[in-house]
Amino acid sequence: MPDAVDQLIEVGRKVVATGLVIGSGGNLSARSPDGDACWITGAGTWLEELDRSAFSLVRIEDGAVLSGNPAPSTEVRLHLRSYQARPDATALIHLHPQLSVLLDAMGHRLRLVTTDHAFYVGSVERVPWYRPGTEELARAAAAAVADGCNCVILAQHGCSVLADSVELAHKRVLNLEEAARATYAALLLGGSVPECPSP
Ligand SMILES: [Zn+2]
Repeated sequence: MPDAVDQLIEVGRKVVATGLVIGSGGNLSARSPDGDACWITGAGTWLEELDRSAFSLVRIEDGAVLSGNPAPSTEVRLHLRSYQARPDATALIHLHPQLSVLLDAMGHRLRLVTTDHAFYVGSVERVPWYRPGTEELARAAAAAVADGCNCVILAQHGCSVLADSVELAHKRVLNLEEAARATYAALLLGGSVPECPSP
């Protein structure tokens, strides 16, 4: 059975192969089994070319690199602050999906049109633009998920999606961008679209 790092490697390959992002558009992490550290993609890695050596094991409490790649993602603080705010979260996918970011930048709220959108995405928070990689961005994104929301749009940058498994985080981010695609279509068609009730 693949462990969380193997699953993240597969997610990286799939999100690029399916056009959700281009190859360097994000970073991925998962908690270690003891819960006190996370495996995170390294700085400058390409999502579709990940292998186990690409990952750093970083202590969640203070960001110390415990093993693996000595240079974790420059967005590591986003992951650490989010895990600190959400002890139940074991995976975080940060990506730069184009339609979710575009709609938010134009002031459109993402509509959860289908049962899948409502089930997997649930609710969407947003945080204003902060410089990527900063403590300010990390704290704002962590505050946005502290009450249980799992999907945050980082304005004019990307999204941060949490779950209690890599598989669920992957499904969430796919459905977030799919909801953006449906919202985009609804706007083009010129009609209003009802929100799907929470299943
Ligand atoms: Zn980013």
